[in-house]
Amino acid sequence: MVQVAPCVPLYWRFARHGCYNLSVKVSELGEFGLINLIGEMVGRAGKAPGGLILGIGDDAAAWKCAGGTQLGTVDSLVEGVHFTLDTISWEELGWKSLAVNLSDIAAMGGVARYALISLALPPETTVADVTAFYRGILELAGKTGVALAGGDTCRSPLVNITITVIGEAPGGKMLRRYAARAGEMVAVTGYLGSAAAGLVMLSGNLNLETGLAACLDTAFHKPLPRLAEGRILVENDVRAGMDISDGLVIDLGHLAEMSGVSARIEAEKVPVEPRVKESFGKRALELALSGGEDYELLFTADQETIIRLQKVLPVPVTVLGEVIAGKAGKVSVVDGKGREIALSSPGWEHFTA
Ligand SMILES: [Mg+2]
Repeated sequence: MVQVAPCVPLYWRFARHGCYNLSVKVSELGEFGLINLIGEMVGRAGKAPGGLILGIGDDAAAWKCAGGTQLGTVDSLVEGVHFTLDTISWEELGWKSLAVNLSDIAAMGGVARYALISLALPPETTVADVTAFYRGILELAGKTGVALAGGDTCRSPLVNITITVIGEAPGGKMLRRYAARAGEMVAVTGYLGSAAAGLVMLSGNLNLETGLAACLDTAFHKPLPRLAEGRILVENDVRAGMDISDGLVIDLGHLAEMSGVSARIEAEKVPVEPRVKESFGKRALELALSGGEDYELLFTADQETIIRLQKVLPVPVTVLGEVIAGKAGKVSVVDGKGREIALSSPGWEHFTA
């Protein structure tokens, strides 16, 4: 048996598919199929330590410790999968590697404290590259009050960066993926689609106005994790939320799946940076819905709470849809007349991309 109180570890929710066909490839299983499998094995392995509050399945794990509730998250950036060195500088790579991890602490409404960095490098990497990488990491660590507490280095044919961040959830309050309820509104912080527009710009050598080009470059290479905003959400009793890393529709699908509900998004309400809308036309909506890497916060709450948040958060808060009773994980996107819009892709899927 697995520890139940004070909250059922999330991998219990995955342990419902029974056995797996061992010849299936992970590309066929998909990211969440793989997480289900691992979660099921972990669940079967026996009793979890008594203090575990959130196990596999949320943006970060949470456990009780003497001083309160700790959070832990780990994420990897792999050369050729997440980045190529001809489109990102080493300094930007350092910033982004830490940012994507801090965003998972922000997604829990937590406070980030320590980072451990495992850096696998080709031997021909120069000292200039490594120092630039750490300049990027240290710049963001300084801005967010995170201490670099250790790590590991090793040889590798490609650059592989894995960062673990340890944080805290003051008062034990957290945003969780499984807490959305039918009748709540779906809201996001900031603008969506700018990072994906940045990738399109860099991949296609688009000639955009200098100010917009700089804005998109920053959105893609140097996202700012919404740590302060996540704290304000939990302090205002928001219960359900996550960060948008893979794309609005696919990430909302994960939140809805974990919460056992459906969700509906009104396309016209999706917040897109006005200059992105102007420069990318109809494609801007697609980038906002499924582009990913925005690292904004996606959450659900009642109208009164959202009105309060719109007054206190330092970034725009936009209501773009609602949580509805229905098939778990179903997300529909509708136009101004309520007609469903078909999407070519809901977002990034790790093993099938
Ligand atoms: Mg996340």
